[in-house]
Amino acid sequence: MPSFRAPRGTYDILPEEQPYWVFALHKAAETSARFGYGRIDTPMFEATDLFERGVGDATDIVQKEMYTFEDHGGDSLTLRPEGTANVCRAYVEHGLHNQPQPVRMYYTGAIFRYERPQAGRFRQHTQFGVEAIGDSSPQVDVEVIELGWSFIRSLNITGTQLRINSIGDPECRPAYLDALRDYYRNHIDEVCDDDRQRLERAPLRLLDCKKTRCQAIGNAAPRSTDFLCDACEEHWMSVITLLDGLKDTYPDLEYYADHRLVRGLDYYTRTVFEIEPENAAGQSTLLGGGRYDGLIELIGGQPTSGIGFGSGLDRLVAQVKEQHGYEPPGSGPDVVIVHLGEDAGRRASALAAGLRDDGLTVIVAPAGRSMRAQMRYSNSMNAQYALIIGDREIESGEGSLRPLQGDGEQLGVPLSVEAIADAVRGS
Ligand SMILES: [Zn+2]
Ligand SMILES: [Zn+2]
Repeated sequence: MPSFRAPRGTYDILPEEQPYWVFALHKAAETSARFGYGRIDTPMFEATDLFERGVGDATDIVQKEMYTFEDHGGDSLTLRPEGTANVCRAYVEHGLHNQPQPVRMYYTGAIFRYERPQAGRFRQHTQFGVEAIGDSSPQVDVEVIELGWSFIRSLNITGTQLRINSIGDPECRPAYLDALRDYYRNHIDEVCDDDRQRLERAPLRLLDCKKTRCQAIGNAAPRSTDFLCDACEEHWMSVITLLDGLKDTYPDLEYYADHRLVRGLDYYTRTVFEIEPENAAGQSTLLGGGRYDGLIELIGGQPTSGIGFGSGLDRLVAQVKEQHGYEPPGSGPDVVIVHLGEDAGRRASALAAGLRDDGLTVIVAPAGRSMRAQMRYSNSMNAQYALIIGDREIESGEGSLRPLQGDGEQLGVPLSVEAIADAVRGS
C-alpha cells in the first residue's frame, strides 16, 4: 500500500488518458471560437462573500460544499465551486459593460465542491463553461443551447437529449413558490428528510430530488410554466420557436419541457436547460445552464442579464471513450535507439539530440541492458523503428535500422542525423 493517495473525490489524469482530455479541451475552444466566444481565465479562489451572495446562502453549495479557508492576512477565500459568479465578478470589475453586448466568454478549469463521493461526482473536476452577458433576448438563450449541443456533437457523442424549462423571474416566481410550498406541505409525510428540511428555504430543489419516493410527488407538482407572467411567457415561447429552427441543422435535437428541471443555484431566472444521455432522467447531466438576469446586480454591478452553461469534462471524456468518439493516434516514438557499449551510448545520446531537434520523437533505450532486453523495450514502447548501435556499427559508421511495425526489411544507415531522419521519413 502506498502511503499517500489522491484526496478522496479527486483523480489523476495519467499520460495515456491525456489525449482524450486534449481532444475535449480542443473541441471546447474550437466550438466557442466558432460562436464568437473569447476565452477568460479567473483565479481559482475568490472572496468567500462573492459565492455567498452570488450563488446564494440557502444553496447546498454554500451551506455544505465549499472549500473555504482563511489566508495569512485573515481574508476568507473560497476555491471556486462553480464558474459563473467569478466571470460575472470579472465583467463588473473590468467594466465589460462598455464593450458591445452581449460579451461572449468561455472558460475551462477546475471547480471544487465537497461532494459526497459517488460515481461521476468529484471534489475537484474540470469544467468547460460559457457565459453571454448583457443581452436578455431569447436568441441568446438559444445560441448558448446551440453552442452546448454543437460542442457535444463535436465530441462525437450521440444519443443525447435536451431538457428545458422556464422558472420565471422575480415578478412571477413568488406566486409559484407559494403554490409549490402549499403542494409539498400537503405531501410532507411522503417526501424524504432532505426535502422536509429544505421545503421552506429552497422549495424548487424538492422538484429535482433524485430519490425514488419523491419522484412521483414531483411529477404531480405545480408547474412553473403555468405561473409565468406575460414577459416570461413570451420569452419562453420564443425560446421554443427558435429551438425548432435549429432542427434543419440538428435533426436529432430532441428536447422536451420538464417542469422538474430547476438547477441547483438561486440565481437562475427564466430559461434553464440540461443536456443528458437519453433515458438518463436527470441522473447524469452532461451539460447544464440557464439564464441569470439578477446575478450581476447581486454582486454589485448594474442590472445586467446573462446566460451560460457549465459542463463537467470528466463525464464527457467518459462518454467519448464509451462511444469511441475519439481514438488517440498510436503514440509510440519514431525511433528507439538500442546501444551496446560506452562509445555507442555516447553516440546514441548525441544522435537522439540531433533527431529530436529535427522533429522526430526519439527515446534512448535504457543503458546497461542486453541487446535482447533493449529490443523488447523498443517493442513495448510501440516504436516505429529501432536504431541499433554497437561497437561494430561505430567502427563501420553504419547503424542498423529495424522496422518494428509491419514487415519492412532491416537496413544499414550511415550514423548521421540527416541519413537516419531521411530513412525514417522516407518509408
Ligand atoms: Zn426527496
Ligand atoms: Zn415572470
